[in-house]
Amino acid sequence: MQCFKLIYEKDFDGLIEELEEMREYFKSRHIEIGIAESMEDKTHFINIYFPDKKIEEKALNIFHHHIGNILYKALIEEFDEKCMIDFITEAYFFLNEDELRDVRIKSLNILNNDKLPINDNNIFYINRKNELIDKIIECIADKNEINIKGFLTFRIKPLRDEIEKIIDKIVEEYLIEKEYNEFIKLLKYFVEIQDSRIELVNIIIKEDGNYSVLDGEGNNIMDEFAKDFINNQMASAINVEDILISGLIAYCPEKIVIHGSKNSRNNEIINTIKNVFLNRVSFCENCKMCFASISKRGVKR
Ligand SMILES: [Zn+2]
Repeated sequence: MQCFKLIYEKDFDGLIEELEEMREYFKSRHIEIGIAESMEDKTHFINIYFPDKKIEEKALNIFHHHIGNILYKALIEEFDEKCMIDFITEAYFFLNEDELRDVRIKSLNILNNDKLPINDNNIFYINRKNELIDKIIECIADKNEINIKGFLTFRIKPLRDEIEKIIDKIVEEYLIEKEYNEFIKLLKYFVEIQDSRIELVNIIIKEDGNYSVLDGEGNNIMDEFAKDFINNQMASAINVEDILISGLIAYCPEKIVIHGSKNSRNNEIINTIKNVFLNRVSFCENCKMCFASISKRGVKR
């Protein structure tokens, strides 16, 4: 029989859930596992045992992974209680109190969320968290007993660096978001104080992701957008999205209809237009202009 003992004094979030999940996993694979809890004074003992003499390596890995997750959660809670505020106030001394609070909340959300949606930033966080859990598993793989308090006392220093690397990236993302929001605020302000120079702008996103921009009469106005933009720019590399945004800001339409948004290869631009022009923006997927943007074979009749 293989036995493992987990000892802890202070209860923490996620411990019981993780044990439950582990029990369910083994049950669904018809692998017997026993979990018994006892308490002496303020100390909890969780005895986990496999009655079968031989457990497969895969099952043992899964078992270690769950224990690794439990220790990871304890580690994050300990880090938050003892180190987080000091770390962010020292490393990011230029942030004000509200910003520091935002960074702490954002960090805890990311560090504690096992189901982050997949995007570029989250892939970084997920990979770093997995590396951290792997390091924890390395520390416990040959042990039959873990005292969580002892583990944290001895391991928090080397593992702290890893957590701080994750938080550095979170702060970077936070600052970019903040800058973007300030930029949007400024553009919104321009739009609010300006008179509209045009009533309606249709933005048609073609199947290949390119744009046509038409006024209410169907005239192509992309060239006018580009002309104004180029007159105001010294830059040699001109990006069509920048032309589009600056044209919209300059003409400040009363209404913007985006056709074929599903063809977009750049959701950021659509979000920016939505965030700046708010309820002046509407979407259309089903008109002549939409169909003109699809190749003939794509049209269903
Ligand atoms: Zn349409």
